[in-house]
Amino acid sequence: MAKIELRNISKEYKNGVEAVSNISFTAEDGDFIVLVGPSGCGKTTILRMIAGLEEITEGELLFDGKVINDLEPKDRDIGMVFQEYALYPHFTVFDNIAFPLKIKKIRKEEIKLKVKEVAEITGLTELLHRKPAELSGGQRQRVALARALVREPRFFLFDEPLSNLDAKLRVQMRCDIVNLQKKLGITTIYVTHDQTEAMTMGTKIAILNEGVLQQFAPPTTIYNKPSNKFVADFIGLPQINFFEGEITSSCFSEYNSDVKFDIPTSLNISDGKYTIGLRPEKIFVDKDNIKLKQNICKLNVKLRNTEYLGNEVIVYFQTNPDNTKRIKVNDFNENLHIDEEIDIFFVIDDILIFDETGVRIV
Ligand code: ADP
Ligand code: MG
Repeated sequence: MAKIELRNISKEYKNGVEAVSNISFTAEDGDFIVLVGPSGCGKTTILRMIAGLEEITEGELLFDGKVINDLEPKDRDIGMVFQEYALYPHFTVFDNIAFPLKIKKIRKEEIKLKVKEVAEITGLTELLHRKPAELSGGQRQRVALARALVREPRFFLFDEPLSNLDAKLRVQMRCDIVNLQKKLGITTIYVTHDQTEAMTMGTKIAILNEGVLQQFAPPTTIYNKPSNKFVADFIGLPQINFFEGEITSSCFSEYNSDVKFDIPTSLNISDGKYTIGLRPEKIFVDKDNIKLKQNICKLNVKLRNTEYLGNEVIVYFQTNPDNTKRIKVNDFNENLHIDEEIDIFFVIDDILIFDETGVRIV
């Protein structure tokens, strides 16, 4: 078993910055937890506290049910991989991977065997004699991975390990890391600011904003049942659309626009200010593409722009001058022009409703 538990953990740096506050979540044995959020939200701080590199101001950190706040970093049995690979430039790949074993004074033959084994797993067998300067970015990151792996740690911590790689390589490495983790079953906490990495890699996602945990759940829950506006907005590409307005007698009207539609009375929503969230793929330009034929709403909107991406088209429209909204479609009538008014459709069941404080209520 290898379980990591954070209980009400807070961190205040010496300069008075409260970097994270009251964080609680648990990585069960074999979990791949992705810690995601915008830059500066406290991801690295949390990871460093788990590794023992940063003191915990308040709260408890438990490994396998035992509080270990004061355990020395070297006794935590953690393998870490950072954005900067921190390889020794004058060492070969072999020596870089072997380094953690050499300081543990492990026998030469055993080191050779172990390095060979992890080189195989990480696809470095042919490159063991090279120096870091003779490797591509992806290969260097693989060496950093192998070096963390060779100690057979009980936990893996990653801090934005793919940020320095180009887009194509990132996709490749994403798969490699996930497959490797699945194969080895090592409990992992992976930090990124990239929502695509979070959605594709995590068994569970912990989403942070300004040092506060917003939601901790599997990717499908995060996407379909975001706990608040921040989560709904942060996860999803293209971004979710927000209609800000008021509900009066079960009728929603957007501020500064002609948009009006009925909210099912069964939802029993009291009058007041609300935000309606609607994902771009839940809006249709062609009504025939909607599978469900009930509860369809129609809006007349102004076309702003279209982006052709090959496999999909992003259609931008406005219902008011305040913001531009998005629709994701598979194809689009090219004869339509900017500033033309078009009808768009959605099913009322697909809307999310957030209250004035941003919390999702539907
Ligand atoms: P992230 O990794 O999500 O970008 P960090 O954990 O690095 O965020 O930082 C969280 C907050 O703590 C930021 O406001 C940052 O400026 C602050 N911070 C980070 N390290 C220190 C430090 N050593 N001393 C003081 N403040 C810090
Ligand atoms: Mg960071």
